[in-house]
This record gives sequence, C-alpha cells and structure tokens, in this order.
Amino acid sequence: MIWPQGSQINQLLINTTKMKTLKDLFMDELADMYDAERRIIKALPKMAKAATCPDLQEAIRSHLKETEGQVRKLDQVFKSFGLKAKGKTCEATVGLLAEGDEIASDFKGSPAINAALISAVQKVEHYEIASYGCLHEWAELLGNTEAADLLRQILDEEKGANESLNELAHSSLNKEALGQSDRTASQDESADERPANLRRGVRPLNTSRNRAVSVTRQ
Ligand code: FE
Ligand code: FE
Ligand code: ZN
Ligand code: FE
Repeated sequence: MIWPQGSQINQLLINTTKMKTLKDLFMDELADMYDAERRIIKALPKMAKAATCPDLQEAIRSHLKETEGQVRKLDQVFKSFGLKAKGKTCEATVGLLAEGDEIASDFKGSPAINAALISAVQKVEHYEIASYGCLHEWAELLGNTEAADLLRQILDEEKGANESLNELAHSSLNKEALGQSDRTASQDESADERPANLRRGVRPLNTSRNRAVSVTRQ
C-alpha cells in the first residue's frame, strides 16, 4: 500500500478547493437555459407559420411572447446573483429544434402537420419543465428566494404551454391527423360535441383501416 506523499496531499487539497458545487451547477444550467430560450424565440415564429390550424398558431405565438418575457426573467435571475446574463450552447435545444424543423418539412401539406408540430414543441416544453424544475429547487437550496420565485414563474408558464398543446391535440388535431375521412366529420360539428365526435370519428376509421390492411395481406 502506497500512502500519498507530501506533494500528492497538496494536490488533494487543491482539488478540494476547486471542487464544483451546487452553485456552479446552478450557474451552468442557468446559462444553458438562457441560450435555450433565445434559440426557442428564433424557432417559434417558423413553427407558428408552419401550422395550418389557427388555434395552434395562436398558442405558439402566445408562448413566444411568454418566452420573450422568460429571457427578461432569466436576466433578473442572473442579476439576483450579482452576475451579468450569459448563455452557453444548449445542445439539447439545438437538437430538439433541428428535429422540429425536420418534422415540419416532412409533414408539410399533410393532415398530420399540426399534430407533428405539437409533438415537436411539446418535446421542447418537457425539456424546459425538467430544467426549470431543477433550477427552481436549486435556487431555493442556495437561499436565493428572488431567483427561486422567478424560476417557479417560468416553470408554471412552461407547464401551461404544454397543457394548452395537450388540449389542442386531444380535442381535434390528433384526430385531424388520422386523415381525410374523419376530417369532414370534425368540420361539420361544433366544438362542444368534440368528445362525441372523437368516439364516432375514430372507430369507423380504425375499422376500415384494419379491413384494408387485412385485404391487402390476404
Ligand atoms: Fe421557455
Ligand atoms: Fe440544455
Ligand atoms: Zn406530456
Ligand atoms: Fe416554453
């Protein structure tokens, strides 16, 4: 067994003083989200434009406004730590937005375009929800109540955006993505009858699709 010599003990002490802690993790993740939000601001107008459902366009544009406010909130969070805001490339957001671009061009002109865009934006929202959940918790642990409060506000906005998208998908756009035959049904009937539409619209379509598949395979 070799015990650490004098110089090695010094090295251990230096490593300890340089050890990264929750504060470093917090600042890192904050810079990551600062970068993420600015990329999202650039991407959302394109996604709104790609949507063919006016309700979805409106949902995306209203979250764009919220997102611009989030950048200001993040500026304030940096300030509450006595620091100037800075970004650090968020590779996850780069990737999620690239996938969003890809799915938007792949499904352009398809009845599934709106469902496709919702799934792409929801992936971004879920990433943000996970990140702000951590940041909020860490700000509390670091004893910065101003930062914790701002991060909680952003977290709630991300959850709200995700929820609005869920509602649009469930109430009409996923069904619209099934194809033409049930599209007519959804256009004919009023919004309050949507749950009934869903049941009536989806079943016959599945039946005919299943039948078509079995016919072609026999
Ligand atoms: Fe955001
Ligand atoms: Fe990130
Ligand atoms: Zn979800
Ligand atoms: Fe968001």
